[in-house]
Amino acid sequence: MICLSGLLPEEIYSHFNILEKYRSLQIFKWISSGIQNFDDMKNIPQILRNELAKESVIRSSKITEKLVDPDGTVKLQIELNDKQCIETVLLIDKHGRKTACVSCQVGCAMKCAFCMTGTLGFTRNLTVAEIVEQFFHLEDECGKLDNIVFMGMGEPMLNLNEIRKSIQILTHEKGRNLSGRRITISTSGIISGIYDLADNGPKVRLAISLTCANDKLRSELMPVNISNPLSKLKEAIKYFSDKTHKRVTLEITLIHQINTNNNSINELKNFIKGLNVHINLIAWNPVKNLPFLEPTTSECNNYIAQLENSNINVTLRKHRGRKISGACGQLGKTKII
Ligand code: SF4
Repeated sequence: MICLSGLLPEEIYSHFNILEKYRSLQIFKWISSGIQNFDDMKNIPQILRNELAKESVIRSSKITEKLVDPDGTVKLQIELNDKQCIETVLLIDKHGRKTACVSCQVGCAMKCAFCMTGTLGFTRNLTVAEIVEQFFHLEDECGKLDNIVFMGMGEPMLNLNEIRKSIQILTHEKGRNLSGRRITISTSGIISGIYDLADNGPKVRLAISLTCANDKLRSELMPVNISNPLSKLKEAIKYFSDKTHKRVTLEITLIHQINTNNNSINELKNFIKGLNVHINLIAWNPVKNLPFLEPTTSECNNYIAQLENSNINVTLRKHRGRKISGACGQLGKTKII
């Protein structure tokens, strides 16, 4: 069965042998507006609606659980066609802006030592439809969204083509028409993916989960660093920001007594010399059975103060969604069949 949520208007046109081209655009608009029944496609003739219903579904996944944190964060557990599960989170900032944090894989192969998803191993890539539907499911539950970050389960650079197409759908002017400025792809540091994104687009923001700027420690915490070392990563970041004229966000997950000392801060300062970056600090969010502790307030404050004293642009991300295990690094409920 074809799933319409993963198709562009021209693909709807070619799949269904629809006589008039404008019909495919109308159908695409309906899907992007969030409808879930063919009978809601009011301007599509009944005969065509019947044909669509015979050969396709509107969405391929469904919400199985909705969890709401008292801080407003919402986490959806979503069941896919093959009974695998993924998680998607809605984050609301102090200005009320809503951001969808979507997953791109079932599980993750990257094995970052501080991340719940990293303990699951990799099952499979998500399809375009499964990526786009996370956004639509969240809009059904929480109203219109402002931003989307590919920062949930999985490594986006290892499923970049599907992500590209999902962005084409979400930014399509006849559909949801989201601006590229409102989209961020976050990588653990896959260098080839950074060059690919810089050269071939789409024009979106880039975030890199850096964690620390010491090769030995980074390779222990993030095995991706073994084949994507810091010196090459730095070149790729520079290439990306020069080519796209965009500042790159470096995410630093602060872990008690692991990467919060002055030495680590100085290594980061050296690393970012000559780069157009913003530093986003994230206090590590507890994950059961992982051998780490949250940073203390004084560790966080010291980190911020030292960067600010050097005129480095830095923010500390507020804890959000911890009570529902929806905070950064905590996603992970999957059903393995
Ligand atoms: S931090 Fe991201 S890349 Fe690393 S294991 Fe977790 S989901 Fe995968």
